[in-house]
Amino acid sequence: MRRLVSALLVTLAILLSLPSWPAAGQEGRPLLTLSATGSPLISGAGERIGVRVTLSEPADLRLRVADFDGRTVRELFSGERAAGALSRGWSGRGTDGQAVPSGPYRIVATATPVADRGSTERAEAWVTVAQRAVYPRRPEFITVAVDPGHGGALSGAVGPDGTREADLNLDIGLRLARMLEGAGVNVAITRTSDAFVNDPPVERTGDGVVDDDDELAARPDVANRARADLFISIHNNIAVDESVGGPSTYYFDERPFGARSARLARVVQDEMLAALGDIAAGYEPYDHGALIYPYYVLRDYDPPRLRRPTQMPGVLSEGMFLSNPRELRYLKRPTVRARMAAAYYDAVAAYLARRTTHVGYRLLAGPDGPITSGDTLSYQVEVRNQGNEALRDWTVGVSAFPAPEHYIGRIRRGTPVGEASIPRLDPGDAATIDIDVQAPGPAGDWMLLFDARDRDGKRAAASGSPMLQVPLATRDPLWLTLAPPDEDDL
Ligand SMILES: [Zn+2]
Repeated sequence: MRRLVSALLVTLAILLSLPSWPAAGQEGRPLLTLSATGSPLISGAGERIGVRVTLSEPADLRLRVADFDGRTVRELFSGERAAGALSRGWSGRGTDGQAVPSGPYRIVATATPVADRGSTERAEAWVTVAQRAVYPRRPEFITVAVDPGHGGALSGAVGPDGTREADLNLDIGLRLARMLEGAGVNVAITRTSDAFVNDPPVERTGDGVVDDDDELAARPDVANRARADLFISIHNNIAVDESVGGPSTYYFDERPFGARSARLARVVQDEMLAALGDIAAGYEPYDHGALIYPYYVLRDYDPPRLRRPTQMPGVLSEGMFLSNPRELRYLKRPTVRARMAAAYYDAVAAYLARRTTHVGYRLLAGPDGPITSGDTLSYQVEVRNQGNEALRDWTVGVSAFPAPEHYIGRIRRGTPVGEASIPRLDPGDAATIDIDVQAPGPAGDWMLLFDARDRDGKRAAASGSPMLQVPLATRDPLWLTLAPPDEDDL
């Protein structure tokens, strides 16, 4: 348990920290530290991103804003500085005075000590410029699963010039991930390089063979383990007829939260249409609409291939067609891919702004040491209202389920072993809940499933709030250990 909690905390710390890396100086003391505040910067709102640099000794300092691709968009400072702090603001304008487009930007500081011009140190902080914030009440409560389709040996669609869909998807996915992180949101991304998600290869589906199904299964696993709020799979398309173009957004309706996936699909499709409609005069993207299709990453429990379906509303988005010469030309432009990433970001923000209810959890404390079936265990869980409606008369129930290999991949009931009421929670608020749990038996590996319910007993998991899952190993009570029953009697 302690190991699990610390692993969770480490993960959380990594997820919550805005990417900012102080460069290590000589004698271990950083020459340079950098921090940025005020992200996301809302375009046109007259706000500024605050940048603060600290030097531990006199240095030639350069401070600039660069875009995702590394190009400088604005210089903030260049010259020799004494030891101490320097503060600068950035209003989201480029060198030409024009507002920069929505996207992730990096504040880059480089310092060369006056005393030693041979060593230059560098620090970066990522920030976001956007049209709006993502769940501004508590962005740190939100986790978005970003899934760049294909990768590794699986190219996806390939254009006539050899352009690989997998590379385009990854580029767009990384831009989206940086934008979300810069807005204070957690990201669970399935891959960050041209590699398999299931790497090193693990047998996930239970058929005894490591194959393409396990590569697919690895994607819901990433989203489910992070208990993501939303799942967004990023793809681009191909057709035999090269005149076919335009975006489509897929969802699957036969899920308990299918109506939510449908709403997400509609808003992703609308944002993508608006974004692509802007990229060139005379280009009017065709609207294929929000479409229903049982893609692996969207559909429900379907053994033996699919044992752990995504547990949250999700979409699979097809941006443009690599087979369409004009759209392929657009896809190869970084500015267009940046615009597509911003469309996904805007869709997430718009969807979350109108989401009614969603419950998040964080395990704060649990029992340590050997646990005997029948013991009363004390758990402490933070319950978070991540929706836009107050939670009134809700409870959190705990059920026990024989442990699987990874986690419970379906919304199941299990055996009830505990319950506690949730005080009224306004949107963006959290409460610490103490729950007594009866340790399940017989001895063995169990999973405790924490799931909130409304006053009518409707489960949050059925609306796409992934359950908190806590593994638990129990042993038999002493009397059972001393006098085990015959196998035949069981
Ligand atoms: Zn694809």
